[in-house]
Amino acid sequence: MFWQQIEQEITEKSAQPFKIIHRESVGGGDISQAYRLSGEHRKYFVKTNRKQLAFMFDAEATALSEIHHTQTIKVPRPLTSGTFDQHSYLIMEWISFSGQPNAQTFAHQLADLHHCTRDQFGFALDNTIGSTPQVNNWSEHWVDFWTKQRLGYQLGLCKKNGLSHRLFDMGQLLQEKSSLLFETYQPKASLLHGDLWSGNWAADEYGQPVIFDPASYYGDHEADLAMMELFGHPGRQFFNAYDESFAVDKGYSVRKNFYNLYHILNHANMFGGSYAMQAQNMIEALLAEVR
Ligand code: ADP
Repeated sequence: MFWQQIEQEITEKSAQPFKIIHRESVGGGDISQAYRLSGEHRKYFVKTNRKQLAFMFDAEATALSEIHHTQTIKVPRPLTSGTFDQHSYLIMEWISFSGQPNAQTFAHQLADLHHCTRDQFGFALDNTIGSTPQVNNWSEHWVDFWTKQRLGYQLGLCKKNGLSHRLFDMGQLLQEKSSLLFETYQPKASLLHGDLWSGNWAADEYGQPVIFDPASYYGDHEADLAMMELFGHPGRQFFNAYDESFAVDKGYSVRKNFYNLYHILNHANMFGGSYAMQAQNMIEALLAEVR
């Protein structure tokens, strides 16, 4: 029944009849089940999850569509998202991935995306980072946005999850002092991918850079760059080329840890283990910078 519904959705939304000839599971995702659907003439990539997580797919479809419309860097074109029975789903263009993109092209296209700005920080919808909710209320003040909706949210979860008091207290102190990291730097509200670890970018079959699985919002472009250095690294050439298109402020070398702390706190909340200690060490190092 579910797959019949998907066929019908594809037929309606693409305005062309679609029958699944072959369905294959796709590995590599952390959060959802993923499939390749092959019809007679075209293919789709479909993610499914529990019905309660429909908001996550709606937000991903909105982000993919927003990035697609900038015409700066390739993303899979979303077709539709929805629910059926106990399931939620997201249907998008199938892309045949093949290796790594050219570092310079990727850097210039990502910089072009980051040049797409708004006058406020946030996003039209809340989304998720890994499996954790990510709040995106619009805000005019970046530091306020980041300390409350990013660090503050994760620190609150640390407390709820019973992680060390010291981590929470030091994190709060960092929140209070964080405007000192922005004394000579005023970020723009750039359209970000939001979760740019190396598992979320690749090249398509023609070598074109592709970014996918976004957790988008409008924020400081340095947050995307920092995440690219945290889990996997696109290489020095990438950063040199990026800097040609969008000059990176010299304070980035310190702020990147401020931004990556968010992801490490998220990992501490999702997986526990050594991530809490890593977060504590990062906070200590950052506090030393703002003393
Ligand atoms: P999750 O949200 O569960 O982490 P992903 O969006 O990362 O899932 O997708 C899982 C895997 O599927 C990716 O690692 C990638 O290899 C592949 N993939 C993602 N999007 C597409 C697409 N549009 N076409 C083909 N394969 C894709």
